[in-house]
Amino acid sequence: MIVKRAEVLGYCMGVRRAVEAAERAVRENPAKKVYTLGPLIHNDSALEALKKLGIQVLSETGSELPPVPCDSIVVIRAHGVPPEILYKFEKSGCEVVNATCPRVLSSQKRAAEYAKKRYTVILAGDVNHGEISGISGYVRENDADCIVVQNEEEAEKVCVKNEKVVLLSQTTISQKEYDKIAGVLRQKIPNIIICNTICPATQERQSALVNLCSDVDGILVVGGRHSANTKRLHNTALSLNVKSELIENASEIPSDFFKLDKVGISAGASTPDFVIDEVEKALKA
Ligand code: SF4
Repeated sequence: MIVKRAEVLGYCMGVRRAVEAAERAVRENPAKKVYTLGPLIHNDSALEALKKLGIQVLSETGSELPPVPCDSIVVIRAHGVPPEILYKFEKSGCEVVNATCPRVLSSQKRAAEYAKKRYTVILAGDVNHGEISGISGYVRENDADCIVVQNEEEAEKVCVKNEKVVLLSQTTISQKEYDKIAGVLRQKIPNIIICNTICPATQERQSALVNLCSDVDGILVVGGRHSANTKRLHNTALSLNVKSELIENASEIPSDFFKLDKVGISAGASTPDFVIDEVEKALKA
């Protein structure tokens, strides 16, 4: 059997940085407890590996920050947090390792700059996503208005009195969805400044998968079942009429895949290298 990997697959730069930052924190501080605020990554195998290293997950839900010993280390995830959360941990004596992805940091900075100039900031994205709540925190910190719109319908309902308005996107929103939202807002607010803050990581994995689909008999998409970008990869393969399965690890490879001549592997942006390696090894064995 020939096994072929997509040219781009697995960890994106931001997730890799955050996982490495957490691993480094444990390695360099054996006497300290290391926590992450919420799961670092949407992948059970990766979370299990981090747990084995001793990294504990703090609940991110609830209005109060979970109590942690003052000499511990708290790692902030790739999609960032509102500034008040950083300050609270720092004030409580914890060491904060801010592993917010540089792309998200740049959106936070841009949102804060517009807010300081008294712009109303509109964010296109998922209102319940940590990245959106983090960025909106930087707008609120500068006493400006922040509106989150999740789709065209919500964009239609936006009503802004301020003449200065800027639109930013969640880094992982699809370009198509963002274009629709931006189109509606441009009609309603002709002066609106539209910034493209979409990260290319998702699109790069999608394009690599599309290329691979034409060259194999079946595709295994490796990643967490809760990971939106992993599910999107699987759906893209299916939409191209390619035999595709979403699996979380090597033990889930369907038996009929072992009968194929050429199998392609793709993986979501939160799938660790070792899980992809195990899938490839199992197919070849
Ligand atoms: S998807 Fe892009 S913005 Fe989000 S963590 Fe990965 S590299 Fe950063």
